[in-house]
Amino acid sequence: MLRSFTSVCTLLLSVLVSASLQAQTVSQPPASPPPAAPPKVGFAIIKTSQVAVPQALLVPGGDITRQVNSNFSAFLVKHHDDYLLFDTGLGEQINAQYQQGMPLWWRPFFTYDKPVVSARTQLDRAGMPPLQRVILSHSHWDHAGGVQDFPEARIGIAAAERPRLRAPSTGPGGTWASQVGADTIRWEELAFQPVPFMGYPESLDLYQDGSVVLVPMPGHTPGSLGLFVTTDSGRRYFFIGDAAWTLAALRQGEPKFWVAGKLVDGDAPRTQASLDKVRALMLADPDLVVIPAHDSTVQDALGYFPAWVR
Ligand SMILES: [Zn+2]
Repeated sequence: MLRSFTSVCTLLLSVLVSASLQAQTVSQPPASPPPAAPPKVGFAIIKTSQVAVPQALLVPGGDITRQVNSNFSAFLVKHHDDYLLFDTGLGEQINAQYQQGMPLWWRPFFTYDKPVVSARTQLDRAGMPPLQRVILSHSHWDHAGGVQDFPEARIGIAAAERPRLRAPSTGPGGTWASQVGADTIRWEELAFQPVPFMGYPESLDLYQDGSVVLVPMPGHTPGSLGLFVTTDSGRRYFFIGDAAWTLAALRQGEPKFWVAGKLVDGDAPRTQASLDKVRALMLADPDLVVIPAHDSTVQDALGYFPAWVR
């Protein structure tokens, strides 16, 4: 009797132990998948800061009372073993640069959220080796702010942008001496070739395989340029700098809010021509993904560094 009582107890105990083990097994969180290898050709968006602005400023017919975010981003492009940064967003020294470059009366309208986390800081934290090449869509303060954070790099710029570097100015549409004036900056003048690409009569194919290609987009500044990147997925992305601030505005074919346009667009008719061209491309190729430098809606959807768009 005692023996059968002991066996029943043993059986019960083993059932309980096995049930609890099973429960433990079930309650274990599923193992997270290993991080995906970086793409062969792809890019990552590095958001350095943002600012909330009235929607009406970014989208024609937008709500003046609704605040939407405008990003200050840099774009890390990966081509096999090589990396380049397209625009820098705001850099390590932005607070001091802003004090010098932005007149007091413009500060309520053109500002940025703090703290800024520069592209250099984000890349260093991720253990990336120093970049050897940075290319600017144009030389405005919110794109060139991190140039001096990359002393190891050549800083590529369109030849037509050089006069602005030699005669810096201040304000929201300025090229600031505090950002581009140092003698130590290793400028690289980019020479477009008479080779048509995506409807542009000139282009510069950076790796001679059609995957990372610059095109001139003059207007916003004389040397504004755009960048096409075709990633591993075969999808083509078009970084258009500040030709338009948002995709919504681009879809409507509308210029920037008129006061803002007057302040920042150097040549309104040429900016409009650049914008019309992008719009025509979008209509001809609905799969093309256009990325304005400041459009938070487009960039939120693609995700941020260290996530890759592949
Ligand atoms: Zn800008």
